[in-house]
Parts: sequence; C-alpha cells; structure tokens
Amino acid sequence: MKPATFEYHRPATVAEATALLAEHHDAELMAGNQSLGIIMANRLATPDHLVDINDLDELAYVDVDDDTVSVGALTRHRDIAASPDLQEAMPMFSEAAEQIAGPSVRNLGTLGGSIAEADPAGNYPTVLAALDADLHITSSEGERTVPAAEYFIAYMFTDLAEDELITGVSVSRDPFPTDRTGMAFLEQKPATQTWPTISAGTAVRVDDPNADEPIVEEARVALANAADVPLRVDAAEEAVEGEPLSEETLAAAAEAAIDEARPGGEMHADEEYKRELAGEYTKRSLETSYDNAQH
Ligand SMILES: Cc1cc2nc3c(=O)[nH]c(=O)nc-3n(C[C@H](O)[C@H](O)[C@H](O)COP(=O)(O)OP(=O)(O)OC[C@H]3O[C@@H](n4cnc5c(N)ncnc54)[C@H](O)[C@@H]3O)c2cc1C
Repeated sequence: MKPATFEYHRPATVAEATALLAEHHDAELMAGNQSLGIIMANRLATPDHLVDINDLDELAYVDVDDDTVSVGALTRHRDIAASPDLQEAMPMFSEAAEQIAGPSVRNLGTLGGSIAEADPAGNYPTVLAALDADLHITSSEGERTVPAAEYFIAYMFTDLAEDELITGVSVSRDPFPTDRTGMAFLEQKPATQTWPTISAGTAVRVDDPNADEPIVEEARVALANAADVPLRVDAAEEAVEGEPLSEETLAAAAEAAIDEARPGGEMHADEEYKRELAGEYTKRSLETSYDNAQH
C-alpha cells in the first residue's frame, strides 16, 4: 500500500518547523522516516501535512563538556554509535545506538524519532531512564525541559504535545566520573535486525577503581521491553550499592528485576521467559559495568 496524500513541508529552522506544527493540527514530523514510513505506508497514520525536519542541522550534534553530555534530536544512530566523546563519557549511549536494527536503520534513524515513538523496547528510552536524562522540547509557545522519568507515561504515550518538537537530551556527568564509572547496554534478541526481547542498561560508579574489590557507590539499572514504559529498577540498584559486587548482591539485583518486570508476552517469548531474561540481563549488565569501572 502507498501512503495517503499529504502536503509536504521542509522548514529551514526550528522556528519554522514549530510554526508549521502550530498552524496545521494534523501534521506529522518526519526525521529518519524509519518508523513513520512504515506506519504511513500501511495507512495507520494519514497526516494531511508532513513536516520534514532533515534540514535542521542545528539539531544534529553531540556535545560533551565537563558537566554535561548533550545530544541533538536529529543525531543519527550511526553518529551516536561512532562518537568517540560519547564512547568515553557515556558509553551506554553509544552501545545502545550500535545495537539498533541494521545499518540502513542506523544510517537514517534519529534520537528524536526514537524518543517520540517511545517504544518501551526502544534502546534510547532505556538509556535516558537509566541516566536520569532531561528532554528538551520546544513549540511556538516556548521551550521546556522534562525529566525522562516524567516523559514516558504509558505504552507509547508520552508527555509530548502534538505541536511540540524534541530538540535534544542532556545528561549530567556529575554522578558518572569517567575514571570511576563503568556502563553497559546488553540486549537479548532473536535476530540482529529486529527489536530486542529484553535489554538492560546499567551504570556502576565505584569508590576506588584500583582496589581489588571496589565498593559500588552508585548503580543504575533500567530495562527495555520489561513493562509498558522503560523500567527503572530501584530495588536492583539498592541491592548492589554500598559493598563490592558479589554473587549475592548480583542475585538480589536479578531477583528485584524479576519481581518488578511486568512484560507482555510475545510470539517467541512468553511473560515468564521475559521475566527470567530481565533478571539474567540485569545481572550480566551490572557485572560488565563493574568490570568496566575497574582499571
Ligand atoms: C527493522 C527495524 C528494527 C528496529 N529495531 C530497533 C531496536 O532494536 N531498537 C530501537 O530502539 N529502535 C529500533 N527501531 C526503530 C528505529 O530506531 C527508528 O529509527 C526510530 O525509532 C524512529 O526514528 P526516526 O528518526 O526514523 O523517526 P521517524 O520515523 O521519522 O518518526 C517517528 C515518529 O517520531 C516523530 N518525531 C521524529 N522526530 C521528532 C522530533 N524531533 N520531535 C518530535 N517528534 C519527532 C515523528 O513525527 C513520528 O511520529 C527499528 C526500526 C526498524 C524499521
């Protein structure tokens, strides 16, 4: 099937894009078109106006300074995966990007499109939840910032209004000093180019990376596809904090993930299997993060 007819707009600035969204209530933004194209081709979306934001180069950036990591909404998955700055400062981001689908999706798909889509199996939503990211959103009425924990409300339902555009995200580096932090993003998926069955994004900050058994000062655990929204597992974080990582604390973290996961069943993975995976990937990802935090 082909998409229904629509009027095509290609704004040159963010202000022009938001003015178009304000003017046309039945408008859809188009970024990498990796999700929208499929939906429109199947006529599950039939917008009267399409606002193509691919000329908004100001939204394609990775910016890392001493305090903050910022990534623009139009940054492609491939550029997030390949960014040496992100690989060093916030490797969970680049690892998550690298594992999205295959090269064709990664070459075109964008951070903003993924956040707007808000699929609970999505890689970035999980990263943003784990890292307590802020989302930056604009419209013709002005700008606002929303914490990731408040943005993802229910299954593919977010705090984003129809006339708003995501401009980017930012993450504070303060809790994650590079020399004492390890991160990981691990996925279980049935085939490389498909969505994951479960993914785990974790970060571990230790007290002394040169110690034989450093103490976990702070941990972050978030899971993809384990609930209706990206799932932050506070109890798993608490289970490993305050002592060196051990079989016991890892088992407690895995148990917490199994308890808190509320996954839907899928054709190849029923609910019980996905809960087990949530536990196992929490454990593996925390172990990898802990290893990565040590010199
Ligand atoms: C085969 C396949 C496998 C995939 N596997 C994965 C996977 O494993 N993990 C994963 O995370 N993703 C996966 N994806 C999704 C992929 O990451 C998409 O690229 C992404 O979700 C959408 O990004 P996009 O730039 O293509 O957005 P588009 O398709 O252009 O737009 C998607 C939606 O977002 C809105 N939008 C886009 N940009 C903005 C913005 N800046 N502000 C507000 N709204 C905006 C659009 O209006 C539209 O409603 C997969 C996709 C495919 C086709």
